[in-house]
Amino acid sequence: RTVYVNGDYLPETEARVSVFDRGFLMADGIYEVTSVLDGKLIDFAGHCVRLDRSCRELDMKNPHSQDEWLAIHREMVARNGITDGLVYLQVTRGNPGDRDFAYPSVDVEPTVVLFTQSKPGLADSPAAKTGWRVISIPDERWGRRDIKTVQLLYPSMGKMMAKKAGVDDAWFVEDGFVTEGTSNNAYIVKGNRIVTRALSNNILHGITRAAVLRFAAEAQMEVEERSFTIDEAKAADEAFITSASAFVMPVIEVDGAAIGSGKVGNVVPRLREIYLDEMRKAAV
Ligand code: PMP
Repeated sequence: RTVYVNGDYLPETEARVSVFDRGFLMADGIYEVTSVLDGKLIDFAGHCVRLDRSCRELDMKNPHSQDEWLAIHREMVARNGITDGLVYLQVTRGNPGDRDFAYPSVDVEPTVVLFTQSKPGLADSPAAKTGWRVISIPDERWGRRDIKTVQLLYPSMGKMMAKKAGVDDAWFVEDGFVTEGTSNNAYIVKGNRIVTRALSNNILHGITRAAVLRFAAEAQMEVEERSFTIDEAKAADEAFITSASAFVMPVIEVDGAAIGSGKVGNVVPRLREIYLDEMRKAAV
């Protein structure tokens, strides 16, 4: 694979980042994951806007303009021959030369790393036909989940809890309400309504979430942005998650209880289809 490090396109075996990099020592970094379908980037502008926001929230310099980011992403897609897959982008506060809790001076250049993952048939995942099963676990993450930091240890622990339970993912619960999935936003469907938690510092502002809510009307659905409980999810007609890599994924079971018929319903596949159609049209 060809990876990108601070302006250079290199074989992955030749790429180097300092052991003093604050991304490595402090998880002082942010990231974005953009899907590639048919060689084109899905919702690229959305990811760029969120990257910029993450930088601002952490007083970090965004090292590139949207046009520059686009050129780098396209170069990575081309050099790695990606038809369907992902581009991972990470910006850390760089290497101040020593370990210190205080941020280094702004003269310290951020470390920019990109790599790709090829995922043939990404949009035709068999899981979209059968749906995911999830468990609920306490949300024990920090309080700024709106910033897309590389501090992903608790989400990893959550994914392992799901794996041990023999299911696909975990939904975080805080004060009795679902916040989101380990790496996705969570939704339930009741009648003609889609219910999903409102935006706040407690969840990541999903790029896919924004798009899907825009397209809800096209699926004759109304949107209610409010918190819901696991009991409400168990009593829902359908449920799903969204993320840039899973798109719109049905959820058919929570904590061992079937949601609706316990099979993939009608609303969620329709939303997935609309999302993929529209986003493919707008891909760059
Ligand atoms: N919530 C969390 C905690 C996530 O990690 C992700 C994926 N990065 C999402 C939601 C979904 O965001 P997006 O649709 O932008 O991928």
